[in-house]
Amino acid sequence: MGFFVAPSANDRSNSQYPSGVMKTIILQQPNEICAVQTAAPPEPPSGWALVRVNRVGICGTDWHAFQGRQPFFHYPRILGHELAVVIETVNDPASDLKPGDRCAVEPYLNCGKCIACRNGKENCCVDLKVMGVHVDGGMREQIHVPTNKLHRSEKLSMDQLALVEPLGIGCHGVDRAGIRKAEWVLVIGAGPIGLSVVQFALAAGGRVVVADVDPSRLEFCRRKMSVLHTLDASAEISPALLKLTDNELPTVVIDATGNAKSMMRSFELVAHGGRVVFVGLFQGDLTFNDPNFHRREVTLLASRNARPQDFSRIIRLVEEGRIDTSPWITHHVRCDELVAVFPKLAAPNSGVLKAIIEF
Ligand SMILES: [Zn+2]
Ligand SMILES: [Zn+2]
Repeated sequence: MGFFVAPSANDRSNSQYPSGVMKTIILQQPNEICAVQTAAPPEPPSGWALVRVNRVGICGTDWHAFQGRQPFFHYPRILGHELAVVIETVNDPASDLKPGDRCAVEPYLNCGKCIACRNGKENCCVDLKVMGVHVDGGMREQIHVPTNKLHRSEKLSMDQLALVEPLGIGCHGVDRAGIRKAEWVLVIGAGPIGLSVVQFALAAGGRVVVADVDPSRLEFCRRKMSVLHTLDASAEISPALLKLTDNELPTVVIDATGNAKSMMRSFELVAHGGRVVFVGLFQGDLTFNDPNFHRREVTLLASRNARPQDFSRIIRLVEEGRIDTSPWITHHVRCDELVAVFPKLAAPNSGVLKAIIEF
């Protein structure tokens, strides 16, 4: 990408920058995030739309990239994969999107040809490119997005549209678990991903228990998300789990920590015949005791990203008021302030649940 200052000083609507130039926030290398001017995108290619970015959510992935701890990550990179956008131009006669439409972005660019794509599992495409991770994302005023990755809502606020992607992570994790009404579900980890899992596990009718090492997160679950049972994960939780479940343990355990110790312990916390779902990702090897795994006949499932249909479903659930997004956003930041506050906002111990950048 080339950076330049436009020769013309004509003001463009909605922007303090001259025509042809837009503001972009770029992660140059680990620990170096800066605001620059980049060329505004040209007309979109066929099958794509040009959109104006309105809101960008920040999450753990951005923090790992900032710290240089995201594997296979290349710098410089424009972050931003939790996006709420407004359509500017559509170059796709088959699409009914029109200028002015407000959309959530499904930031997973898949090949459409591989075994996973052919089987309706676009979320784990062999050649998946996540915007803001593997290719440049949305921390800039305008971007191109394929029209089939834009999910419109006439009712959701821009803030709510930016939450659709992180909600999708929990939605897909819960779908993987196939939760039945009234079954006990243990969710380990009450960060943003864990909370998104909790929300959909409750919506599926599960009896949800949340474990975390941070008491303030557990309090949040009880107060804001109507979770009845929370456990301090820094202590041994199996006695309390056995007590709650009539000595049977939960039939579903969903790990949203990405912590190896926690993930390996989940095999001991699941009921005989139960399912373990790993939503959180650990960058390394995990081991388990096979006799324990076999004795319980555990079903182990990974959960990656979210499926295209999850985006429209989540939009509908929020529109109908069945998913409440009001507890989610704890911080708003203007994009001009972001460079100064990003390290404080994105740190895991910052007290920030979800920070949203306003473009
Ligand atoms: Zn995210
Ligand atoms: Zn594919």
